Amino acid sequence: MSSLFSSCFGRRSGSAPLPDTDSDVPAGRRAVDSVNPAKCAFCNVTPDRFKIILEDAELICFRDRSPAAAVHLQVIPRTHIANVQSLGPHDTDLVRRMHAFGTRALDLLQSQVQSQKGGLDGASKGSTPVERRFGFHIPPFRSVDHLHMHCLELPFSNSLRALKYRVAKPPSPSYFKGWSWFAEYEQTCALLSAGRKVRVSSC
Ligand SMILES: [Zn+2]
Ligand SMILES: [Zn+2]
Repeated sequence: MSSLFSSCFGRRSGSAPLPDTDSDVPAGRRAVDSVNPAKCAFCNVTPDRFKIILEDAELICFRDRSPAAAVHLQVIPRTHIANVQSLGPHDTDLVRRMHAFGTRALDLLQSQVQSQKGGLDGASKGSTPVERRFGFHIPPFRSVDHLHMHCLELPFSNSLRALKYRVAKPPSPSYFKGWSWFAEYEQTCALLSAGRKVRVSSC
């Protein structure tokens, strides 16, 4: 199971290693706020190492280095925030902005694909609705200790990859999510605005 979570962005995909905060200490064995931003890969996103789709003063969106689905992007805040468990009720707006930013980036890529198809076919077909999924991995099941929202356009590459982004339905109305290592966007917002912490167990 450890290899499944060895990377959230393809650190072991065979490409040149990035300076990574996980190189010495396994994910989850380190205090979440002990990261040195100078050494954090996501505090140092540059166009030569990341395929950046969109950026503004607050957020950056880039392609995942090891896509788990047809389209796989990451949205990160420029400010170093360790992970989804570091967020509180006041961060719901940040999560909503990350989601809106990821949606904008996916829309942008989709329109580029459509216009390319139109150019090749001579006639642009209407965009087919695709399923999208947005969310966070929950410690210890994540590798890069800098908050990143996965933005996926399905289908998944394979069932093992799909497992990593499984959304668990709440076991009863008093919960917002079931047992899973992935906190889907709506589940995360519901938990944060209710003043609750995002956990792997039902919460
Ligand atoms: Zn991740
Ligand atoms: Zn960072």
